[in-house]
Amino acid sequence: MSGFSQYAYIASAILFCIGLKMLSRADTARRGNRLSAIAMLIAVVATMLSSGLSYPWIIAGILIGGALGLAAARLVKMTAMPEMVALFNGFGGIASLLVGWAEYHKGVSNLDAFGSLTIVAIYLAVLIGGITFTGSLIAYGKLSEKLPGKPYLYNGQQIVNAIIAVAIVGGGIIFCMNPTAGAAYFLFVLAVLIALVFGVLVVIPIGGADMPVVIALLNSYSGLAACAAGFALETPNTVLIVAGALVGASGLILTNIMCKAMNRSLANVLFSGFGSGSTATAGAAVTGEAKPISADDAFLILESARSVAFVPGYGMAVAQAQHAVVELGNLLEANGCEVRYAIHPVAGRMPGHMNVLLAEANVPYEQLVEMDAINPIISTIDVAVVIGANDVVNPAAREDESSPIYGMPIINVDEARTVFVLKRSMNPGFAGIDNPLFFKENTRMLFGDAKASVGALIAEFKELA
Ligand code: NDP
Repeated sequence: MSGFSQYAYIASAILFCIGLKMLSRADTARRGNRLSAIAMLIAVVATMLSSGLSYPWIIAGILIGGALGLAAARLVKMTAMPEMVALFNGFGGIASLLVGWAEYHKGVSNLDAFGSLTIVAIYLAVLIGGITFTGSLIAYGKLSEKLPGKPYLYNGQQIVNAIIAVAIVGGGIIFCMNPTAGAAYFLFVLAVLIALVFGVLVVIPIGGADMPVVIALLNSYSGLAACAAGFALETPNTVLIVAGALVGASGLILTNIMCKAMNRSLANVLFSGFGSGSTATAGAAVTGEAKPISADDAFLILESARSVAFVPGYGMAVAQAQHAVVELGNLLEANGCEVRYAIHPVAGRMPGHMNVLLAEANVPYEQLVEMDAINPIISTIDVAVVIGANDVVNPAAREDESSPIYGMPIINVDEARTVFVLKRSMNPGFAGIDNPLFFKENTRMLFGDAKASVGALIAEFKELA
C-alpha cells in the first residue's frame, strides 16, 4: 500500500474518532456526523486510488448503492428509522461475509496463502457477518411488523442455541488448524450456513419490543465483522480495521446504555422472552378514575404557568408533533413562561429519538434537559406536559415492586404541580403495562392525537394575542 493511502487512512481514522466524540452531544452531533462522512469519503477515495481494482464493478456498485441510499434517506419515515438501521447493519454483515469468503476462495488452492491470523480473521468475518445478516433481517421483520413481534419460544431453545454455538467454535478451531485440507472448503461452507441459521435462531426468541437493543448489539457485531474483514484481506486494510473496531465498541456501549436505562441486563433482554405474555401483564392492578381535560381548560392553566416542562415520547414521533410542540413552547416563552424539554434516554423507539426530532424542530440546545437534570427540580415545575410518552413517565417503575419495569429510571412528572398527558386513549405503551400516573390527583388527560391537541392549544394562544 502506498504511503499516500496510509496517511489518508490515518487522517480518516482520526476524523472518525473526533466525529464519534462529537456525536455524544446534541449541539455538536450534526458537525460530528459531517466530519465522519468526510472521513469516509477520504477513506473511499484513498482506496479507489489503489492499484489493481476493477473500476467498472466498483462504479456500478457505487451508483446502485448510492441511488438506493438516497431513495431510502428521502422516503423512509422517521418512525421507521430503527428498521432501516437494522437493514443497514445486515448489509454490513453480508458484505463482511462476502469479503471473507472471497479471500478464502482466492487463497484456498495455495497452501502457503494463509497465515494463522488471516485464517482466523476470515472465519470470524464470515461467522459474525452471517449471524449479523440474518439476525438483522429478523430484527427488521419484527420492527416493521412484517413478522410477528412476539418472542418465539420453544422447550430446550437455549440448549439448542448453546449446542450450535459450541459447534461453531469447535468447527472453527478444526477449520483454522488446517484450512486447506480436503474437507476444509466443505467445513467452511457449512460454517457459513450455520452462521446464517444461527442469526435467525438467536433473534426469534426476543420480542419486537426489545429489537432496538438487539439492533444496537447487531450494529456492534457488524463493526466487529468489518474489523475481522480488514484483517482478512491479503493486504490488511487499516481503515477498515479501525472503523470496524470503533463501530464494534460504540455499539456495545450503546447497548449497555439502553439496557441500563431500562434497568435490565443484556442477558435479560436476550434470553427472558420479554413480551411473551407472562412478563408484560405483571404488576399491581391499577384502578381509579382518569380526569379528562379539554384544550380550552388546559390552555387556561398553561397561560398562567410560570414554568413548563415538555416530556416527549414515542407518541410525539407517531403524531409528528415536534414542530407544533416547539411552536407552543415559543408561545409560552413569549408569555413569560420558562420552558424546558425533558428527555428520557429511551423515550421513543431508538436511542436519541427525541433529540433528533426536537433538533429537527430547532429547539435551542440549552432548553433540552436530561432526565437526571430535570428530576431534582421537577417539583418546582408548574405544568409537566407529557406528549405521547407512557413507560418513561410511569411511576410504577418507582412504586410497584411487582411491575416488570420496577427500577427503571423515569422522569418523575407526577411530582410536578400539574401534569397534562396528551395521548389518544388509556392504552398502555411499549411495555404493555398500565400507568398509575393517569389516575393521580394532579394529572389531567388531554385525549386525542398529540399534534391535534397541541394545535388546539396553539390556536387558543393565538386567539389571545
Ligand atoms: P411508550 O411506547 O411507552 O408510549 C407511547 C404512547 O404514545 C402510547 O401509550 C400511545 O398511547 C401514545 N401515542 C401513540 N400515538 C400517538 C399519537 N398520534 N398522539 C398521541 N399519543 C400517541 O413510549 P415512551 O416513549 O414513553 O417509552 C419508550 C418505550 O420504548 C420504553 O418502554 C422503552 O424501554 C422502550 N424502548 C425504547 C428504546 C429506545 O431506544 N428509545 C429501545 C427499546 C425499547 P395511545 O395509543 O393511547 O395514543
